[in-house]
Amino acid sequence: MKARNRVLVTGGAGFLGSHLCDRLIQEGNDVICVDNLFTGSKDNIRHLLGNPYFEFIRHDVTEPLYVEVDQIYNLACPASPPHYQHDPIKTAKTSIYGAVNMLGLAKRVGARILQASTSEVYGDPEVHPQPESYRGCVNPIGLRSCYDEGKRMAETFFFDYHRRHQVDIKIMRIFNTYGPRMDPSDGRVVSNFIVQALKNEDITVYGDGMQTRSFCYVDDLIEGMVRMMESRDGFTGPVNIGNPGEFTMLSLAEKVIELTQSGSKIIFKPLPSDDPMQRRPVIELAKKELDWEPTIELEEGLTRTIRYFEELLGIIK
Ligand code: NAD
Ligand code: UDP
Repeated sequence: MKARNRVLVTGGAGFLGSHLCDRLIQEGNDVICVDNLFTGSKDNIRHLLGNPYFEFIRHDVTEPLYVEVDQIYNLACPASPPHYQHDPIKTAKTSIYGAVNMLGLAKRVGARILQASTSEVYGDPEVHPQPESYRGCVNPIGLRSCYDEGKRMAETFFFDYHRRHQVDIKIMRIFNTYGPRMDPSDGRVVSNFIVQALKNEDITVYGDGMQTRSFCYVDDLIEGMVRMMESRDGFTGPVNIGNPGEFTMLSLAEKVIELTQSGSKIIFKPLPSDDPMQRRPVIELAKKELDWEPTIELEEGLTRTIRYFEELLGIIK
């Protein structure tokens, strides 16, 4: 029988983290979920709490942590713009001190460590679509900088711990991901549009809605994340994980209205500052190294997510 890996997931009570914990438990690992519950919730992991191979620790990653583990997935960090801009100094500290603390732990116990980085390291990109070699166009002093620069600095620490201390690192750059367990009030576009449509409220498109994003369904993302952790020795990344299907926010709003059969109408609101105009991953590296590519089309993923929000909001159809 395969030995049980002891796996630490920081940010494990969040949207992506809780799906990752599910997957790791299903595969027979011994999982420690660490979270300060800033944007995550015990509801996301409630079904795991009685499992003897699952342990929840309420802890802030800006403080050191001493546990014995074989693998670390570092996901702790608020991810939606309203949440990460709520306390920008704390966001940067979470990214940077969190990375340093987890890298120190990885170094001490000899664990492999994966960083949940982001397409935001490319900023408002001038190169389109974005390959991993693109160095980005990030405003260092804007409202998104706490997150973008925090994540960039975390990547720097990962590589310096790797070069200086031979820490076994894996970096993935996650592009916009959506699915069940998104927080309905965290302000991200997919959850906002679906909740607004289900409540027959106005759909708030920012700017003229011509900015684009590429949306990856959560199951595809988690598959890519686990494959990255299990990838060959010496492959550090960074690797893009995302769905190359690219949509304008206006077309997303129209698609959500169609799928929910909502009576909502689209209204336009000011574009937030530094909002990237376009985003699409090049995923050739993930295909080659991880034999990974997304399998769930936007319409299918949205349908599953709509079903989740209908249940959450108690909407009977
Ligand atoms: P989320 O907000 O649902 O999850 C983040 C989790 O981290 C939450 O449970 C939160 O309580 C926890 N957390 C925040 N600060 C913490 C701290 N100081 N100590 C301990 N726990 C803390 O967001 P998510 O979408 O699940 O994102 C998870 C990770 O993936 C983040 O690092 C994010 O930057 C990255 N990412 C996500 C996306 C996406 O589209 N979902 C895209 C790019 C990158
Ligand atoms: N957006 C929008 N209406 C909303 C929420 C977001 O038009 O109610 C836009 C936002 O301006 C951005 C895109 O949708 O252009 C994606 O926003 P999100 O916050 O989900 O992610 P990010 O900007 O970090 O990619």
